[in-house]
Amino acid sequence: MCGIIGYTGSGQDVSEVLMTGLSGLEYRGYDSAGVAVANSSLSVHKRQGEVSALEEALPEGDLNGRAGIGHTRWSTHGPPTDSNAHPHTDCESRVAVVHNGIIENYQELHTDLEAADHTFDSETDSEVVPHLIESARADGASREEAFQHAVGKLEGSYAVAAVFDGSETVYVARNESPLVLGIGDDGYYLASDVPAFIEYTDRVVYLEDGQFARINPSGIVVTDKRGAVVETAVETVEWDPEDAGKSGHDHYMLKEIHEQPTAIRKCLRERVSEFDGTVTVEEIAELDCDGPVQFVACGTSYHAALYGARLLRERGIEAQCFLASEYDADTIPISAETLVVGVTQSGETADTMSALRAANRLVQ
Ligand code: GLU
Repeated sequence: MCGIIGYTGSGQDVSEVLMTGLSGLEYRGYDSAGVAVANSSLSVHKRQGEVSALEEALPEGDLNGRAGIGHTRWSTHGPPTDSNAHPHTDCESRVAVVHNGIIENYQELHTDLEAADHTFDSETDSEVVPHLIESARADGASREEAFQHAVGKLEGSYAVAAVFDGSETVYVARNESPLVLGIGDDGYYLASDVPAFIEYTDRVVYLEDGQFARINPSGIVVTDKRGAVVETAVETVEWDPEDAGKSGHDHYMLKEIHEQPTAIRKCLRERVSEFDGTVTVEEIAELDCDGPVQFVACGTSYHAALYGARLLRERGIEAQCFLASEYDADTIPISAETLVVGVTQSGETADTMSALRAANRLVQ
């Protein structure tokens, strides 16, 4: 799970927001980090290793600008090296791009771009995006048109963000990778997850698959694939910045272990009645399901789901548990009555999400 952060506005120092955001995304695991800040030209800095290594590599006072993007990478294409770290740029360094996910058709895009004399600096799938943008710009497209054109060519999963030299606008799009926008008093944020900018704002807009957004200091415009403006709901998240950080622990894992008693207490509060032994989970009351239930999950969530399935069976409800990576919706018996439950701590586990999508397709 990599992380993306971005900011445009005048209220905050861009590089400070980006570095705070990258630290807030460290819990997701990563192997390299980088930032790009847009001014009359682009300042791009990236390093293999921890966010602290990037911080040390940043030049003093070089990062003035009003828009920027940052990335923590979890390598899928090409080893963790400085050059494979994001952001990636086009041949002329006029656009910088960060990407989370996997571009399935990158090889054929790469071949076409190389044939058109584009030079690549990395082994990543992601680097095709800035070159596709560059090629559309050369054909006369505006920045926004070029971004939409490039994203339109991608097959696979992506949360992608781009900044251009001489512009305060950040362009973003998502498909099967998370992206949330933040609305501050003096600027706008984007990130893979809320902890990246919770220090600055708790007002958020969740972007959906297939949506694009144009974000600049005067606002956010969300559009669909065809460019039609989409109305979005602004939500207020009830997160405590302290909860989102490491709360004084050295590692997120240690923090989560210590949090378990509180987490369980919070989860049970107002749901379990000690008087009559009943459990009421209002959130799922409307499901009205008598089974069969199929849990899909990975890792620790799979073990939790195994226990959940056992509890249900003990109460006479047919329940099974599957490793999400082995959940084959073509062979597993499933009907419109089946309740398929994905269990995932992050809410983003790729195999679990894909098992849920497969199950959904079958019953539609
Ligand atoms: N596939 C891209 C890469 O290998 C992005 C990986 C990520 O999501 O961090 O660089």
